Amino acid sequence: MRHRGLGGTHRCGLGRGPWRALRAWWLGRRVRGDRRRRLHGQVHALRRELADLRRENNALRLRNAEVERLSSRLMEFSQGLAHAGRHDPLTGLLNRGAFEVVLGDLHAASRAAADTDTPRPYAVMMIDVDCFKAYNDRFGHPAGDRCLQAVAAALRAAVRRSDFLARYGGEEFVVVAPDLGPDAAATLAPRLCDAVRGLALPHPANTAGPVVTVSLGLAVGLASTDDARPSAEVLRDADRRLYAAKDAGRDRARVA
Ligand code: GH3
Ligand code: MG
Ligand code: MG
Repeated sequence: MRHRGLGGTHRCGLGRGPWRALRAWWLGRRVRGDRRRRLHGQVHALRRELADLRRENNALRLRNAEVERLSSRLMEFSQGLAHAGRHDPLTGLLNRGAFEVVLGDLHAASRAAADTDTPRPYAVMMIDVDCFKAYNDRFGHPAGDRCLQAVAAALRAAVRRSDFLARYGGEEFVVVAPDLGPDAAATLAPRLCDAVRGLALPHPANTAGPVVTVSLGLAVGLASTDDARPSAEVLRDADRRLYAAKDAGRDRARVA
């Protein structure tokens, strides 16, 4: 039987109170189920987002590694370029441009130290392989190149570690020796000629002897505060003495 109204019974036979409780429980269950489903959906979406982020993160890591690799290659390349800009490819020595920078710096340092208790002289030595055209004519250009490499190595071994050795051009080399006064420079200069002669490279067409030899001109720069003489003049003095050494018979150093 159906009974309506407060405190009555439902058609299923339950009283009003338990029915309400059952309905509340059932509704609650539905709400909890909806919420669970919603939460599940959110968790699922978050998981998907996380997976996407992980993928992006991995891709970024790969791209970062690629950027690092490229930038270190760029660094190597620019260092190589800077090195190539300052060095002679045949001998590996400094080139003329780099030498001129060093010479200018040493002259400026000498001027800055002028009138102090520790003056800073520097020596410049111009060196030229004797009768080198005849060497090329006799042995060929590739052999001439190897000879220049051997001469460069001998000079490198004979100068101090602190000295700068450059290929000035062709078969001409130049040494600039910091903090080397006239007496010490005059001792070092003939040793450079000895070192090249000591290679004992046959050179039958050399007018100075049977082996490859060099001639050398030395000049010492000592700037003073009121001295306007540029470093180029010191270089010219060394060059003049080199030609004096040639005129005097080659295979020698002219130090004054
Ligand atoms: P001197 O004793 O008066 O210096 O005579 P020299 O024959 O050495 O001088 P000259 O200026 O007549 O000739 C220099 C030669 O150096 C000519 C040139 O072919 C050669 N030379 C210059 N640069 C190079 C190079 O890089 N490799 C080779 N193999 N030869 C070179
Ligand atoms: Mg020459
Ligand atoms: Mg020469």
